[in-house]
Amino acid sequence: MRVTCPHCGSKATITSRENIADNVSDLYVSCTNVKECGATFVSSLAFKHYLNPPRGDVARLAAGVLKNLPKPMQIELLDRSQL
Ligand SMILES: [Zn+2]
Repeated sequence: MRVTCPHCGSKATITSRENIADNVSDLYVSCTNVKECGATFVSSLAFKHYLNPPRGDVARLAAGVLKNLPKPMQIELLDRSQL
């Protein structure tokens, strides 16, 4: 993960991380442009949303949907998925 200094735009280094809630962290960051800037600051890192859900969740969702279908339709769908 690349972090830049909000003051000078130089590359910055994450020196530590503090989890403040589930999936939300404060990142303690130091600017690497120590001669001209040398700022230290705190940035936030938070989980936002999945682009692809975890495989286990997809399988559980599919199983939940499948079991509510009539048996012949379940068999047909399972047969089709083995192509
Ligand atoms: Zn800087």
